Amino acid sequence: MSTHFDCIAIGGGSGGLAAARRAASHGARAAVIESDRLGGTCVNVGCVPKKVMWNAAHTREVVERAPDFGFDVALNGFDWDTLVARRAAYIERLNGIYGRNLDKDGVTLIEGHARFVDARTVEVNGTRYTADHFIIATGGRPSWPGVPGAELGIDSDGFFELGTQPRRAAVVGAGYIAVELAGVLAGLGTETTLLVRRHAPLRNFDELIQEGLQEALPEHGVNLVTEFTPAAVERGADGTLTLRAEDGRSVDGLDTVVWAVGRHANTDDLGLDAAGVAMDDAGQVPVNEWQESNVSGIYSLGDVTGRIPLTPVAIATGRRLADRLFGGQHDRRMDFENVPTVVFSHPPIGTVGLTEAEAQQQYGDAVTCFSTRFVAMDYALSEQKPRTRMKLVTVGEEQRVVGCHVIGVGADEMLQGFAVAVRMGATKRDFDETVAIHPTSAEEMVTMT
Ligand SMILES: Cc1cc2nc3c(=O)[nH]c(=O)nc-3n(C[C@H](O)[C@H](O)[C@H](O)COP(=O)(O)OP(=O)(O)OC[C@H]3O[C@@H](n4cnc5c(N)ncnc54)[C@H](O)[C@@H]3O)c2cc1C
Repeated sequence: MSTHFDCIAIGGGSGGLAAARRAASHGARAAVIESDRLGGTCVNVGCVPKKVMWNAAHTREVVERAPDFGFDVALNGFDWDTLVARRAAYIERLNGIYGRNLDKDGVTLIEGHARFVDARTVEVNGTRYTADHFIIATGGRPSWPGVPGAELGIDSDGFFELGTQPRRAAVVGAGYIAVELAGVLAGLGTETTLLVRRHAPLRNFDELIQEGLQEALPEHGVNLVTEFTPAAVERGADGTLTLRAEDGRSVDGLDTVVWAVGRHANTDDLGLDAAGVAMDDAGQVPVNEWQESNVSGIYSLGDVTGRIPLTPVAIATGRRLADRLFGGQHDRRMDFENVPTVVFSHPPIGTVGLTEAEAQQQYGDAVTCFSTRFVAMDYALSEQKPRTRMKLVTVGEEQRVVGCHVIGVGADEMLQGFAVAVRMGATKRDFDETVAIHPTSAEEMVTMT
């Protein structure tokens, strides 16, 4: 095997695979180095297994509501083992597909841990490989709190290794991963507490979303505890865990504590010093708008840069970088504005653009917001009446839509199209002039006054 390439991507996750495959499609000799399973975080311990679990929890909800529509069904049980085994088989199939895609595209897969020897050379299992361009796409991994007994808990990777369903679980964290894992556990029947350090989860989301989530969590069976700073985890004589807070409060009788308190970059064993690549205080590899690090010919993208850590962002950035380096598209680069995202809570959240607070900070009095709250027709025949919330944030006399926020059933599938509109600079009038699709929740987005 040749040991010199036009381009080597370090990390076979979303970003590295996308960059190497696109480079190869432009005729570059490309390789990917991966130390673990192909597909990275998203496929193995992120988006994909998470969405399978979300779908499972959602299915339970649907079965439980079926009698509202006259169905004579009852939920007789749920087998965690079956779900986990089927999920694992699905992911194994994806790992295989990723491998075959590399073969098909003529990308060389180098299996093992890469470490820079100098700015043009990496070493993997004792073999040295050189390249004209290195793309650092090593992603990140979960952070752990430094409290006594923390090791009695698990992180999000450990969540996907759980062999049995927790009976009583605490999820610690205020970000989207904490919210999603708590929702999945509760949805599958685990008694679940979500513990956040400040007053609310998802504090960087629009206030309307925070308000909706705080209403939805208990409706969905998640016990939310705020202002809780973990101090220790202890195992009692009966084998159960107690999570203690700094202020003396505690949650006991737990069989699982899940830490979802943030993630940090995979750069500690990469030999970046040997290559002269600078890191920031968080251990991330900072880059300019062209994904260039401080060393010529070494780029970084995806979670390792700390910039909007989402799979489609890593993929788009990788493809654009390869288009620029090998496809003759000299101006091609990632645009980090208006990146839409979904939180797979119950119900889901969809958001794109600026929150009302961000817009006010940027545009002051020029901001006008439109919002609505309603019960989706899905619940018309149910006693349960969860409310969907939507907000459009607009700017200027023409009321250009700069933010769009939804929490409610269908938000996850609704938002992509609205993100196109926001990106194209649509105004409130464009929304209003668009004929509604009836009866849907989405129609409320074009009928807001
Ligand atoms: C629980 C969870 C749920 C998520 N859900 C979503 C979601 O719904 N939607 C979404 O868009 N994003 C989601 N994400 C985020 C998403 O997974 C990441 O943004 C995405 O995987 C980042 O891609 P990446 O290529 O930067 O890194 P990764 O996918 O993490 O890939 C990095 C790869 O590099 C390898 N590697 C590291 N160091 C070395 C080395 N020295 N040598 C060789 N290989 C190395 C690693 O083994 C890994 O495979 C989720 C993440 C988590 C944890």
